[in-house]
Amino acid sequence: MKQFVVIGLGRFGSSVARTLYKLGYDVLGIDSNEEIVQSLADSITHAVQADATDENTLKALGIRNFDVGIVSIGDDIQASILITLILKEMGLKYVVAKAQNDLHGKVLYKIGADRVVFPERDMGIRVAHNLVSSNILDY
Ligand code: ATP
Repeated sequence: MKQFVVIGLGRFGSSVARTLYKLGYDVLGIDSNEEIVQSLADSITHAVQADATDENTLKALGIRNFDVGIVSIGDDIQASILITLILKEMGLKYVVAKAQNDLHGKVLYKIGADRVVFPERDMGIRVAHNLVSSNILDY
């Protein structure tokens, strides 16, 4: 069974973490904000308060043993890049990172992210496709 670590538990990260947990997977969530960690404590396997840019902290949490990492930090681009790099260097097979803009996305791919997501843009595309492919136009 795959194990997931979600770093950054904002709107996107917490939604990914809760959904994976509901689907029956082990999910470790990490966020630097204690309140956010508390609010998710009962909704995922483990929620930990930590600064994920600290490599030693990630080592101590045994992050290298996880299969998939999701880096969901948008505002602090430097933190997002550092954490993505650390996860890939630790040997995680699959790392998904959230990008704020095109350049951020390019950097994430260059340092080894396996998939980069742009939540608002991706959802906008999906909704547009949905609107024209469903029979909603018959109204
Ligand atoms: P969303 O749109 O998904 O709500 P966002 O991109 O607007 O997210 P951010 O402010 O970028 O939100 O951060 C998402 C979460 O990541 C926040 O809960 C924040 O506390 C956490 N975070 C930011 N930096 C770090 C860090 N270095 N280590 C751990 N968590 C962090």
